[in-house]
Amino acid sequence: MRLPDFSPEDRALVMPQTQGDLRYQCLGCSSLHGIDELLYTCPNCGQVLLIEDQDFDRHAATSPVDWRRRFDLRRMLNLPALKGVFRYSELIAPVIPLDSVIYLGEGHTPLVEAEPRLTGQIGFPFMFKNDGQNPSASFKDRGMAAAMSYINYLIKHQGVERILSVCASTGDTSASAALYASYLDARVKSAVLLPHGKVTAQQLAQPLGSGAQVFEVPGVFDDCMKVVEHLSENWPVALLNSKNAWRILGQESYSYEIAQDLDYDLTGCAVFMPIGNAGNVSAIMSGFLKLHRLGIITSLPRIIGVQSHHADPVFQYYNQPDAAKRKWRPVAVQPSAAQAAMIGNPVSMPRVRELARRYQLAAGPASFAVVQVSEQEIMDHMLLANRHGHIICTQGGESLAGLVRAREQGLLAKDEFAVLDATAHHLKFIGFQQMYFEDSFPPEFGVRPRPDLVNSPQLVRAQGLERLPEPGRPLEGEEMDEFVRLTALDIAKRLEL
Ligand SMILES: *Cc1c(COP(=O)(O)O)cnc(C)c1O
Ligand SMILES: [Zn+2]
Repeated sequence: MRLPDFSPEDRALVMPQTQGDLRYQCLGCSSLHGIDELLYTCPNCGQVLLIEDQDFDRHAATSPVDWRRRFDLRRMLNLPALKGVFRYSELIAPVIPLDSVIYLGEGHTPLVEAEPRLTGQIGFPFMFKNDGQNPSASFKDRGMAAAMSYINYLIKHQGVERILSVCASTGDTSASAALYASYLDARVKSAVLLPHGKVTAQQLAQPLGSGAQVFEVPGVFDDCMKVVEHLSENWPVALLNSKNAWRILGQESYSYEIAQDLDYDLTGCAVFMPIGNAGNVSAIMSGFLKLHRLGIITSLPRIIGVQSHHADPVFQYYNQPDAAKRKWRPVAVQPSAAQAAMIGNPVSMPRVRELARRYQLAAGPASFAVVQVSEQEIMDHMLLANRHGHIICTQGGESLAGLVRAREQGLLAKDEFAVLDATAHHLKFIGFQQMYFEDSFPPEFGVRPRPDLVNSPQLVRAQGLERLPEPGRPLEGEEMDEFVRLTALDIAKRLEL
């Protein structure tokens, strides 16, 4: 629908105003800092930041009914800047004018109900939210659209001349950063740092294809992150890791979409997500809290983070039930099939602590929990889901394994249902499936294939043929007929037709 076709009242609702008083807020010393320069940590105390709208309460002047109507009307409006995560512009970054918004098709990923036989096997109703259906095939595009739109705004309206964007990545952040940078103004260049040999071939191919400068660094993600932090502290570069608070704002859209797709009724909903650097879980809690504060939703969903036993610092921290006794300790990671979440010292841990505290204050102590799953469970559950029409990656398998664990631990009530974050597309992590099928996981993973989940191609080479077709050398006449007949016969036999 075009804007003039809306009624005058609806037109006023549907078009966002450029407004708001966004400031970086330090999670250590609570100091506030203006957003006209790019900050990643507090200049006073070095702690990570959140961007908070100091004038958020103006939103209370809009009734919950009007908020819902606003978001629902925007579904009908054909305006590219409002088609992605900026459908929720007021709650994300209302200071960015629509002419600076970059939209590459991110967000609004489908909620797909679990196939009924799969639901039967798991014994609990659930759906996947397929964030692999984003442009670079992971949820990272949500935050990148916000961060890159902000950078675009700085160039278009604030006289910034050149930006070199850098990030360290377990693969998906760099794919996303390189994609958006390549679409943006030529004044934005992108460099990405990856742990050598610790990202999949697809994830390495993505930033290369987008034309970014790709640096492979020895070690694991945590080592890369240290190098990127040093770069951003000593040279004028724009850090695009989730340390960048603009990324968190964009990723809040995940929560807004779940609310909108469930008609703003989240009673009995439990959202499961893998935790790596902990940006996403922070954003999701922040997003739901904003909706709740404005009365757009009246019940907060349960939030359950999932970690592999090979990279589980957040699980270890919350595993201590007595909050006073909790001690934050990074862990040394071991190889994980949930490689995008293989992080021992998550940058956003202070955000998790703060937002989980606020969340539990609003919705009770049981509203946030973290569970731990094994590498074997991650692989088995990914393959099981994909056998039932889903397209989840290893991290999505981690979410499903987490649901099973949460049920075992009695964390869910009978009348609840789960939304599982399938954070990337299956094809990005296809090598893990291959290792499973070939039983070639290195022993450190501790993964052995379940025979009923293994699959492999079968070569068909019918016996008794003199020649086989080859590119540029087709068979003809009787030779061709014989080839077709014998090959079909062989396949029919194997299919027991
Ligand atoms: C980045 C990533 C994660 C982990 O998200 P965090 O925000 O770092 O906790 C999980 N799954 C996939 C596919 C990712 O790319
Ligand atoms: Zn501070």
